[in-house]
Amino acid sequence: MANAGRSGAVSLLLNNRLAAAGVALLALIVAVALLAPVLPLADPNATAPADRLMRPFSPDHLLGTDALGRDILARLVWGTRVSLMVGISATAIAAMVGSAIGLVAGFVGGRIDGLLMRGIDMVMAFPYILLALAIVAVLGPGLLNALYAIAVVNVPFFARNVRGMALGLSRREFVDAARLSGQSGPEVLFAEVLPNVMPVIVVTMSTTVGWMILETAGLSFLGLGAQPPQADLGSMLGEGRKVLFNAPHVSVVPGLMIFVLVMSINLVGDGVRDVLDPRLKSGALARPSARTRVERADAPVATTPAAVLELKGLRTLFGLGGREVAAVRDVDLLIGEGECLGLVGESGSGKSVTAMSIMGLVPSPPGRIGGGAAFFRGRDLFALSDGEIRRMRGSAVAHVFQDPLSTLHPLFTIGDQLIEAIRAHRPLRRRTARQEAADLLALVRIPNPRLRLEAYPHELSGGMRQRVAIAMALANDADLVVADEPTTALDVTVQAEVLTLLNRLRQEKNAAVLFITHDFGVVSALCDRVAVMYAGEIVETGRTEAVLAAPAHPYTRRLVDCVPVLGEPERRLDAIEGRPPPPGALPKGCAFAPRCPSVAPVCREAPVAVRELAAGRTARCLFPLVGAGHV
Ligand code: ADP
Ligand code: MG
Repeated sequence: MANAGRSGAVSLLLNNRLAAAGVALLALIVAVALLAPVLPLADPNATAPADRLMRPFSPDHLLGTDALGRDILARLVWGTRVSLMVGISATAIAAMVGSAIGLVAGFVGGRIDGLLMRGIDMVMAFPYILLALAIVAVLGPGLLNALYAIAVVNVPFFARNVRGMALGLSRREFVDAARLSGQSGPEVLFAEVLPNVMPVIVVTMSTTVGWMILETAGLSFLGLGAQPPQADLGSMLGEGRKVLFNAPHVSVVPGLMIFVLVMSINLVGDGVRDVLDPRLKSGALARPSARTRVERADAPVATTPAAVLELKGLRTLFGLGGREVAAVRDVDLLIGEGECLGLVGESGSGKSVTAMSIMGLVPSPPGRIGGGAAFFRGRDLFALSDGEIRRMRGSAVAHVFQDPLSTLHPLFTIGDQLIEAIRAHRPLRRRTARQEAADLLALVRIPNPRLRLEAYPHELSGGMRQRVAIAMALANDADLVVADEPTTALDVTVQAEVLTLLNRLRQEKNAAVLFITHDFGVVSALCDRVAVMYAGEIVETGRTEAVLAAPAHPYTRRLVDCVPVLGEPERRLDAIEGRPPPPGALPKGCAFAPRCPSVAPVCREAPVAVRELAAGRTARCLFPLVGAGHV
C-alpha cells in the first residue's frame, strides 16, 4: 500500500511537466557531479600560464581556460560537486536543528517555547547575509565555516514552520489519546507528532536547497567560502569578475550553471510541494474554481417550466487519476411550488453530488457537469453567467448542510453572520438587518434572540446551530431550500424538533424543499414526494404514502423495511447485504442486481430504463413489486 502511494506520488510529480523537466535536469547535474572522479577530466587545479584565457571550444579545453590556464570544464564539474554538497549538507543541518527546536517548542510549550522562540527571533532580527558574514568573520574564511554559517541563518525557517504545526498537533485528539494510553512525552513526539510534520519539513527542505546553494555561492564570491585553489561555483564567479570584459566566458559559465542548478531544484521543490498537498491528489494541479465546469453533450429543454426545480438527465462526472467516472447519472427530478421532495439513499449513492450540482457547488476539478440540465422556474441554471448564479445562491436557492459547526464561521458572532447573509442580497441598513436577524432567530424558536445575536457558534448546542443555519437559509425568502442531511448530526429528540420546525417554516414561507436523508423515517414525517437514489441513479419516485405503503423497487422495499415501527418490537430490521458498487465499476445491467433478492438473469444483461407505473410513480426495475393496478 505504501509502495502504491509512493509510486503514485512519483507519477504525479512526473505528470507535472515543469517538475519533470526539473527532475531530469537535476538528475543529470547530480550524476555528472557524482561521477567527477571517474570522468576523463583535466586536473581542475593544474595551472598552465601558457594557456591563459583560452576561448570555449578550444582543442583540449571544451569550455576554455581561466586566468591561470585551468580547464573550466573540469573546474565546473568539481565546483558543482562542492556547491551541491555544501548546499545539501547545510540544508540537512538546518532542517535537523531547526525542526528539533520547532518540535520541542511547539510540543512542550510554556516557558521552553518562549525561550527557544525568542532565541530564534534574535537570529531572525539580523539580515541573514549579514549574519552569515559575521559568523564567517568570527570562525574564519573557509568552505566548512561557510556551510555552518548558511545552516545557522536558515535554522529559523524550519523552527518557525515546524513549531506552528507541532503546536496545532499537540492539541489534537489523537495526541491526547496517545498520552492517555500511557506513552511518554518523547514517544508521543516521535510517533505521533513528527510523522505529521514530516511533509512540511520535506517541502521546506526542497524549497530552500536552491537558496542555500545561492548563499554559499555568495559567500565564496566574496572570498569567504571556498579558498583557492579549490573551485566552487561562487569562487569561480568571483575569479571571473576580474576578467569580465576580455574573457566573459570565465564568469558566464559558472553563472549559467548556478542559474540552471537553482532553477531545476526550485522546479522540483514546487512539484514536491504540490504532490504532498493532498487536496491536489485528485484532478489536475489546479485549485477548484468557484463554479462547477459545465461541458455537456446535450442541453435538454424544460418540460415543466412552472416547477420550482426540474432536473433533466443530470450527469455529474469526477476525473479520478486520468479517467472519468459518473457519480450521478441521468437524474430526473421535479419539485413543484411549496413542495417537499425527499431524496433518499444510502451513503455514497450520489445525493449530495446531485444537490451540489444544481447551483454549481461541485468542486471543479475534479468534478464537471457532463450532461442534462437543471431548470429553476424554467431557466437553465447551467447556461447562466457566473454573476447570475452568484446572485441566485442564497437568495433564490439556499442550502443547509449536514454539519452546522463547519458551515458557521467560528470567529464571528451568529448575529454578524446572519446580517452578512441578509445584506449579501438586499441593500439594508445595518440596524434594519440586525432587527431582521433577531426576527429570524425568533422564527426558528431560539429563545432570547436579541441576546443570542452576540453568541459565537461554539457557545450554542448542535441543535441551536442547525437552527441558525436554517435561519440563514430562510434569510432571503428562498424559493427552494436544499437541506442535505440537516438532522444527521443531531440526536433523536433534537432531530424531531428541527423537523417540526422545518415543516412549519415550509408552510409559513411556502418554500419548496429538497430534503436529503438516508432515513425513511424522516421522509415520512416531512416529505410530500420521495425519490430513491441508488449508485447515482434514481430508482423509484412517487408520493410518500404510496411508496411507503407499497414500494415498487426491491431496494426501496429493503430501505423501508429498515425503519423501526413503534409497537412492533418483534419486527426484524434486516440490513441490506453487500455494498453498493463504486461509481467506477458499475455492473453491466441493473446496478442493484448483485444485491437484489429477486434478481433474474435478464436484469444483468443491459441497463434498466425507468418505467412509469402510474401517474407520478416511476421505478427503474424490470420486475416492480407492485403492478400498475396496485398503485
Ligand atoms: P451521498 O449520497 O452520501 O451524499 P455523495 O453524493 O457525497 O454521496 O457521493 C457520491 C459519489 O461521488 C461517491 O462515490 C463519491 O466517491 C463521489 N464523490 C463525491 N465528491 C467527490 C469529489 N470531490 N471527488 C471525487 N469523487 C467524489
Ligand atoms: Mg451526502
